[in-house]
Amino acid sequence: MSIDRLIPAEEALNIVLDDISPTQTETVTLYNASGRVLAKDLTSKRTQPPFDASAMDGYAVRQSDIATLPAVLKIIGESRAGVPFEGNIQSGEAVRIFTGAVVPSGADSIVIQENTESSEPETIRILSGVPEGKFIRKAGLDFKQGETLLRIGEELTPSRLALAASMNYAEIPVYKKPKVALLSTGDELVLPGKSLADGQIIASNTFGLIASVQNCGGEVLDFGIVEDTKDTLHETFEKALEARCDLIVTTGGASVGDHDLVMPVAREMGFEFEIAKIAMRPGKPFLFAKLRDEDHSVCLTGLAGNPVSSLVAFNVFVRPLIQIMAGGTAETASMRKAILGRNLPENDERAEYMRATLETGPDGQLVATPFDTQDSSMLANLVRADCLVYRAVKAAAVSKGEPVEIVIIAGSGVT
Ligand code: AMP
Ligand code: MG
Repeated sequence: MSIDRLIPAEEALNIVLDDISPTQTETVTLYNASGRVLAKDLTSKRTQPPFDASAMDGYAVRQSDIATLPAVLKIIGESRAGVPFEGNIQSGEAVRIFTGAVVPSGADSIVIQENTESSEPETIRILSGVPEGKFIRKAGLDFKQGETLLRIGEELTPSRLALAASMNYAEIPVYKKPKVALLSTGDELVLPGKSLADGQIIASNTFGLIASVQNCGGEVLDFGIVEDTKDTLHETFEKALEARCDLIVTTGGASVGDHDLVMPVAREMGFEFEIAKIAMRPGKPFLFAKLRDEDHSVCLTGLAGNPVSSLVAFNVFVRPLIQIMAGGTAETASMRKAILGRNLPENDERAEYMRATLETGPDGQLVATPFDTQDSSMLANLVRADCLVYRAVKAAAVSKGEPVEIVIIAGSGVT
């Protein structure tokens, strides 16, 4: 199908995510596994807890000895975490016990220390009873050896990492981080911290995109600022391919002006283009291409140079792409409902994501108010925004107080 048409955003996402396979796998230690994606199911190598353990500080006793209260029992020893009591409790006896310690054999109940009184040394007075088994964590309460507790494709969150450790894995198989080559194209660009000559601007996208790639599980290969010449762009693409990148992300030069070289140069190198522009604002110039190779295909996403366009298009298309390459599941923006804080006119043929503030109205409903100016070069109001109000292609005019769909911006404090 022709790539000259404005492709609807939903269709473009399907094209981008079609036929993407995860990277190869590697083994990493748990110290280096945070945020990575598991490449195999993990089955526990052990049972947890491995023994009946006390959940409280107190005394291990026999139920038959505390049928009549108060009961005075002889303390025959102590069991603390890591140092079990070796003997067996007989009738009339108790063992001082602490949280996490092995419940001694012969004992079936734990009386918490608040319900006891020590009268003479070596004995303890039990003041109130306790149901059998209470405050005892049975062996295997948490999980048993052989249970599959973590699954392929799951992201290693702090709790999953702790569980993998408890299952006695020191290292685990994960997908390799996709290598993402980043190129910021434009003769006008300079890095922050330098003084600017006439006509120059700062390559701010570079930094938004480095962080975005890292946040969704990619490894950045930053090729910095690339001047708008065919040769330089060609050379930099070559370097990215030599570095065995899985994805090339460019910003700038993605539309059809004389200085927009990403598509012509990548085409010369064998990239096949599937998307050139999408029916979305911000982010209309958006390129997607693949360089197919028997053993290693490389994707290219060409983002617009305008700062807001580049970040919005990254979130809509590139984040899910990297997440799938990283072996995980694509998180696509989830829509919520809010009430509109001001009137909006009918929308045109491009779906729009409008930067907006979000407040809680008097009746508890979320109220989204889009900024007057939505120019895609304006970063400060992206930072001030809490959400993006979504307007479908040709959406009818909406009045203040009517419902709209929104996408919450991560980090806005709204959950
Ligand atoms: P382009 O897509 O190359 O036509 O660029 C569109 C606009 O975005 C121009 O005003 C550029 O100066 C600006 N721009 C391009 N690249 C960047 C960048 N890395 N950071 C900030 N602005 C950029
Ligand atoms: Mg440019």
